[in-house]
Amino acid sequence: MKTIIAAAMIAILLSLGVSGMADVPAKGGNALIASGSKSRYTIIVPDKPTPVVAHAARELQRSIAEISGAKLAIRRERDAGDRPGFLLGPCKRSNTAGVQKELSALREDGVLIKTVGKDVVLLGQNDRGQLYSVYVLLERYFGVRFLARGCTLIPKQRTLRLPEIDCAYAPPFMYRETLYYDSFPRDIATRQRLNGPRSECGSEVGGKIQIFPYVHSFCKLVPPEKYFAEHPEYFSLVKGVRTNLTIHGQLCLTNPEVLKIATAQVLKWIEENPDVPIFDVSQNDGEGACECEKCTAVVKEEGSQHGPILRFVNAIADEVAKKHPDKWIETLAYAYSTKPPALTKPRKNVIIRLCHAGCYFHGFEQCGLGAGLAENLSKWSTLTDKIFIWHYSTNFAHYIAPCQNLSGMAKDIRYYAAHNVRGLMVQCDYQSPGGDLAELRQYLASQLMWDPSLDPMAVRREFCTGYYGAAAVDVLAYLRLLDKAAEDPNVHAFGAWDPKGTASPAMVAKGLKLLGRTRLRTLTPEQVNRVDRLFLPLWYMQLTHPAEYGLDPATAHSIVSEFKRVAHASKITQISEGGGIAPWLAGMETKFSAK
Ligand SMILES: [Zn+2]
Ligand SMILES: [Zn+2]
Repeated sequence: MKTIIAAAMIAILLSLGVSGMADVPAKGGNALIASGSKSRYTIIVPDKPTPVVAHAARELQRSIAEISGAKLAIRRERDAGDRPGFLLGPCKRSNTAGVQKELSALREDGVLIKTVGKDVVLLGQNDRGQLYSVYVLLERYFGVRFLARGCTLIPKQRTLRLPEIDCAYAPPFMYRETLYYDSFPRDIATRQRLNGPRSECGSEVGGKIQIFPYVHSFCKLVPPEKYFAEHPEYFSLVKGVRTNLTIHGQLCLTNPEVLKIATAQVLKWIEENPDVPIFDVSQNDGEGACECEKCTAVVKEEGSQHGPILRFVNAIADEVAKKHPDKWIETLAYAYSTKPPALTKPRKNVIIRLCHAGCYFHGFEQCGLGAGLAENLSKWSTLTDKIFIWHYSTNFAHYIAPCQNLSGMAKDIRYYAAHNVRGLMVQCDYQSPGGDLAELRQYLASQLMWDPSLDPMAVRREFCTGYYGAAAVDVLAYLRLLDKAAEDPNVHAFGAWDPKGTASPAMVAKGLKLLGRTRLRTLTPEQVNRVDRLFLPLWYMQLTHPAEYGLDPATAHSIVSEFKRVAHASKITQISEGGGIAPWLAGMETKFSAK
């Protein structure tokens, strides 16, 4: 509750045009942390600090030094004396019954930041929470913003104060992942509290949520290359023929031999990967569910294609629970299997990963194209409290094209949080840096996954102010233009669509005009590069459809050159999922060769 008030306060202050939170706690604060480059405070760690505590202490030390100029010493508790301190990890001084009680009430990755006497206690529900407690302190009370890889906003404060703090918070989503290329490196992932399997977070920063294998594991559980020749009956019967396809082919889930082989394989995976908490037992990509008599009968009984899947997964989960009660089994509800079964419920150690199947643009529950997803999620949430969501947020066929779904994505994340969802992956441009509004979408998604009560528009404003500097006003106007286009109830987007249907020539022309104003602003070279990247989606539309989007033949060649320069400077290597940018650029150079 307390933390929600703090979040709401940030939103109100930002909406009033107060940029950053730096001044707010200082004015109301009563504990003087640093003045000039001097401080009475020490960073205190246990006598035997874990690598995570040591890392968290260094992060706090470095950040406070950057904010105030004061470099606080890091001391082990036995050497710390009685000076006031930031107490990280389980120190004797912070080991009170009250602190332990609050800590034990937190869910995964939760943080506890608490003023105890003159000390500030920083603890976590787990190792990740321990490190995150430092980042939450820096964000909430010192106004630091981890906007993007290579862009942290550190408001300078010669006099650094803290108010009395009593903050116990855990995010609603235990698993948070954006699947943007620039969200994977360790430091940005931990600072934005992204903990997915693709993040490069080792044990020294509290590790990550590991899932093995990632998804679509039927073909790994019962490999067709090993079994199909002798036992075609293990595989799905599609239109009267058993299939060994690993896309658009599945297993025959009612065959007891298949269950036996798959169970043994999962138990083997667990023994081979003792540190992994979640193991995947999920359908292959595409369609191809088994149409044999027994499988069809289960589908009929359950009124859903997920019937045979869930019975199969539950049976494996029961065997796993006997030997490994701390391990979870994940399965997909995807493509043909999103509707929950009528009779069978997931076991307690089963995670349902439901896949996004609704319009991107205005929040799926507000669009007829998303009605099925809203209904399915609503039903699944009555059957289990372990739902993960696989959410899509880019145009997979046109990474660089405009994808005006910022408001829709924010609505969807908040919808998931309100419907019992415990894990969320927002799949974006994972194969290369860049993509339409990549840095902003990553920041917005990570902030909302940590705290869905934040005002998305305030998050957007603080990002633009920090990232684009004096050009923020133009960028915000451009974003309003994109929002307006996405509000059109007749414009829908999902998966891999032709952007001609969603980005009109008028929108592109207006966007170029708005972004053109940024050229009049005084910007740093870094900010110029960031603004340059915003032009790519609009140029992309012009270059791919020159006549419709009013590309002036006289300037076409120079736009291709600019596109190439900006893409290279930003290390963008993909134009679409699986499509390299180099051949596309070569094609454009030929198409618009200098006369
Ligand atoms: Zn079958
Ligand atoms: Zn729609």
